[in-house]
Formats: sequence, C-alpha cells, structure tokens
Amino acid sequence: PLLLEARDLALSYGPTVALRGVSLGVARGEIVALVGPSGSGKSSLLHCLAGLVVPDSGNVFLDGTEVSRLSDDDRTRLRRDRFGFVLQFGHLVPDLTLAENVSLPLLLRGRSRVRALREAHALLDELGVAESAARCPGEVSGGQQQRAAVARALVAGPEVVFADEPTGALDTANGDVVMSLLTERSRERGITVVVVTHDHSRLAAVDRVIRLVDGATAAAA
Ligand code: ADP
Ligand code: ADP
Repeated sequence: PLLLEARDLALSYGPTVALRGVSLGVARGEIVALVGPSGSGKSSLLHCLAGLVVPDSGNVFLDGTEVSRLSDDDRTRLRRDRFGFVLQFGHLVPDLTLAENVSLPLLLRGRSRVRALREAHALLDELGVAESAARCPGEVSGGQQQRAAVARALVAGPEVVFADEPTGALDTANGDVVMSLLTERSRERGITVVVVTHDHSRLAAVDRVIRLVDGATAAAA
C-alpha cells in the first residue's frame, strides 16, 4: 500500500521546465532519496509531494487523498498535522532558543507550552544537543542547528518527513551524524522519509534511490 503517490507530475516556472511527467510511489515507512544534478527537479518534486507547490498537471495522493485538490487551508493543515520538514539551512527562528524552536510544531498542534518544551528538551537530549537547548541558533554550530532542525521535524510524530539537502551546509562528519539521526529515528518510529541529497556518501541508510535527470526519473545510478 502506497502512502505517497505521484502520477505524471509536470511543473514549469515560466519557460523553465522543472518536472516533465514524474510518477513514483512511496510505501509507508520507506526511506527514499531523490538524487540528480543541480537543476534536475529534485526540490520541485519534493515541494509537490509535500503539498507546498501545486503541479501544473498530474496528481499527488497521500493515503489515497488527492493533495493537489485540497484547498490551501486543508493543505496547510495537512502539512502541519502529518508532515515534518528539514531544510538545507535549518530555517530555525533566530530569536527563539533551540528548545523553543523544536517546541513550535507541538504548540501548533495545541500542546501546552510547558509540555511542548519538556518534549522538545527530551528529544534534543536524545539527539545530543542538550547543552545547547537554551541557546539561540546564532550561538551554536551548524551541526547543532541541523540536529535541532531534525528534532523539530520529528517532535510531533509526523507520518512523513521531507528533507531538502538537510546536510548541505555541513562538513562530512556532521553531515553523516545528521543524516543518520534522521534516518535511524525515522526508521525506529516507522516514519516515511523523502530526502533530497546530492551527496552519494549519504545513501547507505536509505531504502531506495530515485534519480532525476532533466525533470524526469532515470534509472538509479
Ligand atoms: P534541483 O533541486 O534538482 O536543483 P529544482 O527543482 O530546484 O532542481 O529546479 C528545477 C529547475 O527549475 C531548474 O532549472 C531551476 O533553475 C528551475 N527553478 C526552480 N525554482 C524556480 C523558481 N522559483 N523560479 C524559476 N525557476 C525555478
Ligand atoms: P536547491 O539547492 O534545492 O537546488 P536552489 O539553490 O537552486 O535550490 O534554489 C533556491 C531557491 O531559489 C528555491 O526556492 C528555488 O525555488 C529558487 N530558484 C531556483 N532556481 C531559480 C531560478 N532560475 N529563478 C528563480 N528562482 C529560482
């Protein structure tokens, strides 16, 4: 049974074709990597799958629900309630501590502030960032920021985590740590993961590699 399914997605930005008929399915609990050269459409595909962008044509289904037909409000709710996101540069809120940043998805889902902060601290502790939990993003290393971003994506128990170059700004050692935290925690919890990466050294932990070339899927390298 597929959790996520894309059928014949096409997307252009003006004259630039980003996706030209992409179809794929992702099973529940599967960890899938999207790879391919810069400009091949990886981010565009991730954004369509995550309901952040509506394709020009084609459909995205989550559990059989057609995501592209939902209203903007319903798609926002879907992202908030069922998805987690990790982006290249973390996109943590600069004026909040790491713990406050991680607690945000829980607050959005109606948890009390005290409880949300307690859960955020517990997860930061598990991910090895306890000592920086009370610091703001600008006061900690890039690796710690990305670990906090992983914590924020996982904290509310999403069904799917979408990660776009989550290790892009990190050196090899820190990148490996962040990628394994993301994949191991997700696997433990049965979370489905779609991760964009251009770094082939990070593919050991994934179940399947989907290669994009020129906006279309190609045979995996
Ligand atoms: P990748 O993630 O593989 O680098 P993208 O999905 O970001 O690929 O981009 C696919 C193509 O679409 C590229 O040619 C890129 O320049 C173009 N593109 C992406 N986003 C935009 C945008 N907002 N406006 C115009 N062109 C875009
Ligand atoms: P990635 O590292 O995922 O390939 P990029 O650095 O290419 O992303 O793009 C970063 C941002 O710029 C994205 O929001 C993307 O949609 C946008 N973008 C990418 N290519 C273009 C383009 N040719 N024109 C305008 N915006 C673009």
